[in-house]
Amino acid sequence: MHVWSSAKYTFPLPNGHRFPIAKYALLRQRVIDQEIVPAEHVHDPSAARREDLLLVHTPDYVDRFTTGALTRDEERRLGFPWSAALVERSYRAAGGTLEAAVCALDDGIAMNLAGGTHHAFPSHGEGFCVFNDVAVAVRALQRDGRISRAAIVDLDVHQGNGTNEVFAGDDRVFTFSMHGRKNYPFHKVPGSLDVELDDHTSDDEYLELLADALPRVLHRARPDLVVYLAGADPYIGDRLGRLALTFGGLARRDTFVLNQCREVGLPVVVTIAGGYAEPITDTVAIHTATTRIAASFARSAARHG
Ligand SMILES: [Zn+2]
Repeated sequence: MHVWSSAKYTFPLPNGHRFPIAKYALLRQRVIDQEIVPAEHVHDPSAARREDLLLVHTPDYVDRFTTGALTRDEERRLGFPWSAALVERSYRAAGGTLEAAVCALDDGIAMNLAGGTHHAFPSHGEGFCVFNDVAVAVRALQRDGRISRAAIVDLDVHQGNGTNEVFAGDDRVFTFSMHGRKNYPFHKVPGSLDVELDDHTSDDEYLELLADALPRVLHRARPDLVVYLAGADPYIGDRLGRLALTFGGLARRDTFVLNQCREVGLPVVVTIAGGYAEPITDTVAIHTATTRIAASFARSAARHG
């Protein structure tokens, strides 16, 4: 499997900031050290092009973010202090999802060891999300004639409000989300199918709801590509998650999603999305397991192909 990592494009955060920026470099290192992906398959993403970002975002937002002209309120809502390094990082992370998506169309599966920034809206960022990498990738592939339809399977614990806003009323893109009912964002934007979860939802409850919903999603969406947001934050030890999934439950989740896609012969691009466990190594372990599971699907596809 080919993966993209923007870990070397890090950016400064104040001491004690709750965003776990270190997880990206740790994940990259583990994926290589554990030989989940050969080092030469870990790619450095190109920066997203402005014209690609403008398929989703307004020129005003893109240009003001890029030049450091966001208002203080916009910066607070985003949750990051602006820096030139944050700009570089944001363009690279979005570029990584697009490059992985192109690769997934050829190889069946590929992954961005970043991305899933689903709280980014056309004209503003929020909740640690600058650009909506998933929406940009889908729109760019549609423009280039590589796909017509897409399904977004968003299993981050938070609802992808920005993604839903982008694709509202567009019946070519199916947005499916399972997320905490009482969790951020407190104003949900309706998607094609929303499954709301109570606090402390367990592995078995979660997997039962997923098994009920996902086959219907893929049937109704008739997608040419699935974009999977494999958030680590439904984990019981997550500081922001409020659910009670275990490592084992999350691995069953990933396996189920990828199996369903394979049964219908659908290419999948995986992004890691959120994860805020204490210690950070728990989040890294979950993202590493997702990568390992995805890579096993790539290998078995190659054997069968
Ligand atoms: Zn999240």
